[in-house]
Amino acid sequence: MITIRLPDGSTKELQDGDDALALAASIGRRLAKAAVAAIVDGVPVDLGTPLHDGAEVAVITEDSEAGRAVLRHSTAHVLAQAVLGLWPGAHYAIGPSIADGFYYDFELPGGATFSDDDLERIEEKMRAIMDADQAFVREEHSIDEGLALFADQPFKREIIEGVAGPAPDLTLSAEASGDIEADGSAVSAYRNDGFVDLCRGPHVASTGRLGHFKLLRVAGAYWRGDEHRPQLQRIYGTAWESDKALAEHLHRLVEAERRDHRRIGAELDLFSFPTEIGSGLAVFHPKGATIRRLMEEYSRQRHIDGGYDFVYTPHISKAELFEISGHLDWFAESMYPPMELDEGQRYYLKPMNCPFHVLVYRSRQRSYRELPMRLFEFGSVYRYEKSGVVHGLTRVRGMTQDDSHIFCSREEMATELGALLTFVLDLLGDFGLDDFYLELSTRPPGKAVGSDEEWAEATEALRDVATGRGLDLLMDEGGGAFYGPKISVQARDAIGRYWQVSTIQLDFQTPQRFGLEYVGADNARHRPVMIHRALFGSVERFFAILLEHYAGALPTWLMPVQVVVLPVRDDHNDYAHDVAAALRDAGVRVEVDIADEPLNARIRRWKVEKVPYVLVVGDDDVGAGTVGVNARSSERAVRDVPLDEFVTALSAEIAEKSSPEKGASSPDEVREGSPVTEPNG
Ligand SMILES: [Zn+2]
Ligand SMILES: [Zn+2]
Repeated sequence: MITIRLPDGSTKELQDGDDALALAASIGRRLAKAAVAAIVDGVPVDLGTPLHDGAEVAVITEDSEAGRAVLRHSTAHVLAQAVLGLWPGAHYAIGPSIADGFYYDFELPGGATFSDDDLERIEEKMRAIMDADQAFVREEHSIDEGLALFADQPFKREIIEGVAGPAPDLTLSAEASGDIEADGSAVSAYRNDGFVDLCRGPHVASTGRLGHFKLLRVAGAYWRGDEHRPQLQRIYGTAWESDKALAEHLHRLVEAERRDHRRIGAELDLFSFPTEIGSGLAVFHPKGATIRRLMEEYSRQRHIDGGYDFVYTPHISKAELFEISGHLDWFAESMYPPMELDEGQRYYLKPMNCPFHVLVYRSRQRSYRELPMRLFEFGSVYRYEKSGVVHGLTRVRGMTQDDSHIFCSREEMATELGALLTFVLDLLGDFGLDDFYLELSTRPPGKAVGSDEEWAEATEALRDVATGRGLDLLMDEGGGAFYGPKISVQARDAIGRYWQVSTIQLDFQTPQRFGLEYVGADNARHRPVMIHRALFGSVERFFAILLEHYAGALPTWLMPVQVVVLPVRDDHNDYAHDVAAALRDAGVRVEVDIADEPLNARIRRWKVEKVPYVLVVGDDDVGAGTVGVNARSSERAVRDVPLDEFVTALSAEIAEKSSPEKGASSPDEVREGSPVTEPNG
């Protein structure tokens, strides 16, 4: 008999030689059915691994992220197996599981490339392999055996050589983390039927356990992400625990494409990326600029109310500043190269606002009475992003951060962090994002500055705040920046995707580097703590998130045109202008679209523009002082709405930051009319 300890602290008695699957079965049939792997004493293993007495075992189920990763990685093996079957002589590189799916990189014989049609053929072959229910069998090999096993597979050999020996290549180990462990002495592989792949595991027991998958697309990818190395063919796929979960994911992909901010930005004429300016550098057109201005104005007002002081700082600086701040040591790869001016003086475009704000703080002696000092700026920064990762407004080379740096005493730190997080979550809520979890990033191994004690204190303060809000807190061990721990707010959008928006970062280091001080109540000099905080992240990226969250149909207060008035005939033009004037007086952004096109064509055009309200005015309205209301959210028009009633309801909707979809503004006594066709004119 052996005794197994379970995650809840209870124990289970099993027979000698029993494995994790037997353990799951002893707990329940459903658990056994859902099990895909197990964690034994902290190490992920196959279900078939015999357990030892006293082991601590957790079963990984198919509907957990860890379980899905096992399904996805196992499916990636089958993908490689199918490709090697269809293209004899193909080379296979790495095939990890990734968020929502997996990929595998290949080099086809003679430089051939996959076409989208090939995906179907490959899928078919994969299904045949799954139907055959081949067992995944783990093998251990010495380095030499491994090299021999993959004699005609150069990428596998490079992985083995890279991690073997006295100085293992840790980057390669991380890239190929699904494939190999960097202990330098042995490699493991998994074999099913004739196919074998380098692999750390774990895997599902057999290929028959898989099946809810789809191959999505082909892309080019350089071996090890290096443009000087061979270009490989990457096949992306997705795999889930059930057909239902797969179908839901595929639906999300379709929705994500429909909501793509790059498409919406073009359709609504909001922004563009002129090639003459360069990759990742956006220009905002009048309508996009209006939305952005409204976002910024609202944020500015909230910051004034929140006790922030506004500052302005330049876009370039001498190298000296970034030498003191440490950016040239830690961040140089993301900075634009320097400009040489004034006889060899090097100037850099600023990649971050922090050191500039520090100099504002340091411009004179500070007293404890001035703390917390909250400096705020919409600060434009420039970062060199590789052209391969630049993406619409979400990954750009020039962006504006709504950046704040807060200087406070250590005693004030916890209170300030709490207030800050509340401020951030409230303001995000005003933009319609209100489903969050928090992620706490702790000390990165190897490259951090600052003492253990400082990091621990900062991490604890952030943890307290997160738990205090009752929000889910996810630990991102080792994911912090070099200068301090970070809490990030992850917001869920309308289709269930999470976006990292705000970040709050504690920093004990910059105040030391710059020698910041304040004079305390005790008349002695003290070092302040610095908190970095970007609320939107960057204005550009947040703009993109809002466009995708709302699929372009932003809440009324943010729409560049809130109301359009359509006269039915040209003798209604004067009344249409009167209606527009009344709305303009109430602060509404309104346009009149005069009667030089059929009414229905005009209604459709403005609906495509996602204008919240299209008002139609005809004969009856001129006499009665009414309007016909076509809300963005509705196929039906509401006729004969008194103008003042509409203005009141609309003003309320704007003040509440609501939208027509929420129906907050429908006047209660409206009469439902017929769908708008040509009304009696
Ligand atoms: Zn594997
Ligand atoms: Zn900063």
